[in-house]
Amino acid sequence: MATTTAPRTTADLLLEWDRRRPRSQQSAFGMSELGECRRRAGYRLAGIAPTNIGGSLQAVMGTGIHDAAASALRDLQTEGLIPADALIEHEVSFAGILGHLDMYIDPELTDIKTTSARWLAKLKVQGPPTSHLWQTHGYAAALIAEGRKVSRIVIDYLARDTGEQWRWTGRFDPQHVRDALDWVTEVRSTPLDELARDHHPDSAWCQHCPFRDLCWEGAVADRDPRSVLFVEDPDAAEWARKLEDARDRKKAAEADEKTAKGALDALRPNSVGVELVAVPGYDKALKYTVSFPERLDGEQVRKDYAAAGRPVPVKKSDKGEVKVELVEADALAARPTP
Ligand code: SF4
Repeated sequence: MATTTAPRTTADLLLEWDRRRPRSQQSAFGMSELGECRRRAGYRLAGIAPTNIGGSLQAVMGTGIHDAAASALRDLQTEGLIPADALIEHEVSFAGILGHLDMYIDPELTDIKTTSARWLAKLKVQGPPTSHLWQTHGYAAALIAEGRKVSRIVIDYLARDTGEQWRWTGRFDPQHVRDALDWVTEVRSTPLDELARDHHPDSAWCQHCPFRDLCWEGAVADRDPRSVLFVEDPDAAEWARKLEDARDRKKAAEADEKTAKGALDALRPNSVGVELVAVPGYDKALKYTVSFPERLDGEQVRKDYAAAGRPVPVKKSDKGEVKVELVEADALAARPTP
């Protein structure tokens, strides 16, 4: 085999390690994809070959953490500190869908999830997303079908950037399994090219998706990848209506937000720092953060540069900014002739 001297960064090596793992080569639809992007699920269920390498450094870090936890669990099991029949990184299958659970110690199933501190803060308020509930309930359903008991489901969330941990626990709810299977049935019965693209092309999801090129192919050359949506449905009036409607809803939502925020300022106990306030009859608390952030004084900067006889340094964006406005059709008659 020819050797290559191309430099490899640590990131390149980590991604290479990830690509070579047997689990990364699994091409069948898996429980970790339940409730995620419908189009990606459709490609998997149809057995379409990936068009991109996929994977991300964040995912590799997550895999490393899973491997370390599994290794510690196996050592504990060897030493008799956890039961010999505990399942560690165990493959299960339910309704023909494969999954790999992290740990099961009768009657508790535990799944490890790595995330960022920003997402962890959201999770702590909103609870696990549907996809995580469906995935863990898929594991639980498979164990129950094998004749095991699952009375508690635990999801251990760990923030990669801060090391903060948050644990969610819940009881097995068969409704989640039914909802997940209904979702799979709907994806399966929808023609591939009609399946929703559930993420934006610039999102981390799409950037690391193994079907990225296939999914967005057909877009207009040198235009936004989402222009493929117009190619598939060239109803300009409908898209313009959608744009106007979205902007109206955004404006109304922003106004509602301002009104509700202003009203709730009545309950704010602090003039600085962070305080939590309970809301009787509501399942969430209010967190008031009052800070005095420092912002660049643009006017002073301009004055200082002018006094020094130098132009304010600016950096031109390498990506053109596109603005789309809805204006009166009469404006067409008044536009300058080319
Ligand atoms: S590229 Fe994005 S929208 Fe398309 S299948 Fe993948 S995750 Fe879904």
